Amino acid sequence: MNAYLEAFLNAFSANANWTWRSIIFDVPWYNNYFWGLILISLLVWGLEILFPWRKHQSIFRQDFWLDGFYIFFNFFIFTIAISGFYKFLEVFFNDLGMTASSLSLLDIGLWPNWSQLLVFFVLLDFFQWFTHVLLHKFPFLWQFHKIHHSVKEMGFAAHFRYHWMENIFYKPLKTLGVMLLGGFEPQQAFIVHFVAIAIGHLNHANVKVTWGPLKYLFNNPVMHLYHHSYVLPEGKYGVNFGISLSLCDYLFRTNYIPEDSGTIPLGFPGDQKVPKGFLKQLWYGFGKNQSN
Ligand SMILES: [Zn+2]
Ligand SMILES: [Zn+2]
Repeated sequence: MNAYLEAFLNAFSANANWTWRSIIFDVPWYNNYFWGLILISLLVWGLEILFPWRKHQSIFRQDFWLDGFYIFFNFFIFTIAISGFYKFLEVFFNDLGMTASSLSLLDIGLWPNWSQLLVFFVLLDFFQWFTHVLLHKFPFLWQFHKIHHSVKEMGFAAHFRYHWMENIFYKPLKTLGVMLLGGFEPQQAFIVHFVAIAIGHLNHANVKVTWGPLKYLFNNPVMHLYHHSYVLPEGKYGVNFGISLSLCDYLFRTNYIPEDSGTIPLGFPGDQKVPKGFLKQLWYGFGKNQSN
């Protein structure tokens, strides 16, 4: 049991220490997610200010600071808080004889770097797309996902407004993806992570980017705005589930972009019941019946 406690505490302090070292520039620049995240946020915010899609929208839109705080909460504070628990599980599964490479289907370690990254990016994106579909399909998951859909005015920081339970829901399939690829992230995985953050920020930004013919490959603000639409097509529990890529939505016919004015009402029927403050949102979703 001591080994578990030790692993738990070590992972917790290592994670907290890594974040602190990132803040004081004591880690390689390409692994510095703290300042990297701030830089990407400022760049995308700059695009919103220079080329706004909805011209009337304030630079400090509704819930700007709440969502700004969510960026740091979901990316750092929650990651530190949960790290010990994840390490605990890793040691537990190791004790059962299951390691990160137990399910390895492809040994991509010997492939050229660019193809490792591509496979890693596409596979992880697919697993996240699928998880996102589940978040909309099952009411007990939707309860938590409602926090993300409570955004009423869209801007880049809305990317990170989501309930901390979502981190946990996404984890199993993301881990499965890494395990299928041999149990390790490619060396340059930071490129994939930064690209994913930038695309996710853009998807929520008040800028009109559609990528031309590449829209069948990459998700974009026009497509994702309809994911947040208050009104959904009859009989659907969601549309445009894509994370970084739009490919899955086109493949599985969950794509829906009837127009591109950018002015549609956002949210969902009953969204006025979602609490406005961060602390109340922390515990939202656990109550018994909160449906709509
Ligand atoms: Zn959603
Ligand atoms: Zn979104």
